[in-house]
Amino acid sequence: MRSAAAARWELEPLQHLLLLNAGRPAQVHYVERVALVVQKYGGTSVGDAERIKRVAERVVAAARRGSKVCVVVSAMGGSTDELVALANQITPAPHRREMDMLLTAGERISMALLSMAIIDLGHEAVSFTGSQAGIVTDTSHGKARIVEVKAKRVREALDDDKIAIVAGFQGVSTSFDVTTLGRGGSDTTAVALAAALGADVCEIYTDVDGVYTADPRLVPHARKLHAVSYEEMLELAASGARVLMLRSVEYARNYGVLVHVRSSFGYEEGTWITEEDERMERAIISGIAHDTSEAKITMRGVPDTRGAAARVFRPLADEDINIDMIVQTAASGGRTDFSFTLPEVDLARAQPVLGAIARSVGAEEVATDADIAKVSLVGAGMKTHPGVAADMFDALSEAGIDIEIVSTSSIRICCVVRASDVDKAVRTIHDKFSLPQEAVVREEHPATVSGQLRAVRAHGPSGERA
Ligand code: ADP
Ligand code: ASP
Ligand code: MG
Repeated sequence: MRSAAAARWELEPLQHLLLLNAGRPAQVHYVERVALVVQKYGGTSVGDAERIKRVAERVVAAARRGSKVCVVVSAMGGSTDELVALANQITPAPHRREMDMLLTAGERISMALLSMAIIDLGHEAVSFTGSQAGIVTDTSHGKARIVEVKAKRVREALDDDKIAIVAGFQGVSTSFDVTTLGRGGSDTTAVALAAALGADVCEIYTDVDGVYTADPRLVPHARKLHAVSYEEMLELAASGARVLMLRSVEYARNYGVLVHVRSSFGYEEGTWITEEDERMERAIISGIAHDTSEAKITMRGVPDTRGAAARVFRPLADEDINIDMIVQTAASGGRTDFSFTLPEVDLARAQPVLGAIARSVGAEEVATDADIAKVSLVGAGMKTHPGVAADMFDALSEAGIDIEIVSTSSIRICCVVRASDVDKAVRTIHDKFSLPQEAVVREEHPATVSGQLRAVRAHGPSGERA
């Protein structure tokens, strides 16, 4: 779908500019051409009855302008957290299958309410659970991966000029159990449906108006980015910028889905996530992300024998626990230490496994530290610009912040710091790299999708106007 959709986005605004400009550039409006759009509304956007009605109006307006609209909804803001808390009142380690049964209820509520609101506005709509929408996943409860999308029912509804509403964050496993895709998973549902339906664009409506150089709640002077490559967005999402779930970006890149992150409370253009364009001029750094959802484990005094690392990490992998930032210290006295991070939500499951590993490898001690945070600097330009890591370490040191672990990829530098230091760390690094001011030339480059859309004063792919 990539080439057809992208080509249309790149060519048509210019064609309309030529056709309609005729000496009245200020009068030019983007002409509706998007045939099929997937719109995803996050929890805040459907947070109460009034907001659901506002979303319904927005969706109906897009349909009345001629688009086929498939909507993916999250649970009403905070309700997934409430369901998690409720389960934890029953047991500290809820059964994973039953947890998924519980959590999928949240999206089921919002999809039905939105469908009712749309029908009330006089447009046909039909809601589907993840299972009914054909979202087939593997059997990994709590973080299932989508293996196939059988969008037949959704497609039929759209062909019948109905608005299709799909419950985000959920699917049905290859063994017919209800699954969830992990926190923030509605983004992935939306991108997967956009790929399966061959949608022209996947719009992610949220409570900020795009992707910023850092979380705008933490850095009020952060700058909105107009376009971010899949590669950079992958690193930002993997580093904790929760505006898009990591898997949704992987999916978008793999299937070439054009993603537009924008506000559900306004109509301005947001941030485009798309293919890197060799004509784009690049900023060295695109953004800073932080993540407070991980814990650090240190296993001390592990006998330094061949295969020790495998014996430590294999049982955790078998338990389906994601490990990151592994550091092994140089052996002394025949013993070595391992430090690594894992998601705090997996700690309860990991503890007995860690105890068993320590006993089997003969480790002296296992320490758990949940008061850590990761702060990451991301930018494709750092591949060719030396000294970025040194500048980041300087900034942290000048701010009196200790670095506990460092890991790097070709376009990311990530430091583990004390959780209490993370806000200061993000702001310090943001200022050190002058991200509020740095000009990103690609924003204005006429070769980019967003540059061209701006050139014709786009009112969004559904053609709506403020
Ligand atoms: P939704 O419920 O719509 O899915 P989320 O809370 O999952 O919304 O994601 C949106 C939030 O992501 C924003 O409110 C913002 O605080 C946070 N965020 C973190 N990093 C960034 C960033 N770099 N740009 C924009 N938002 C970010
Ligand atoms: N409701 C789920 C969550 O809160 C999924 C989502 O919002 O995307 O994580
Ligand atoms: Mg989200």
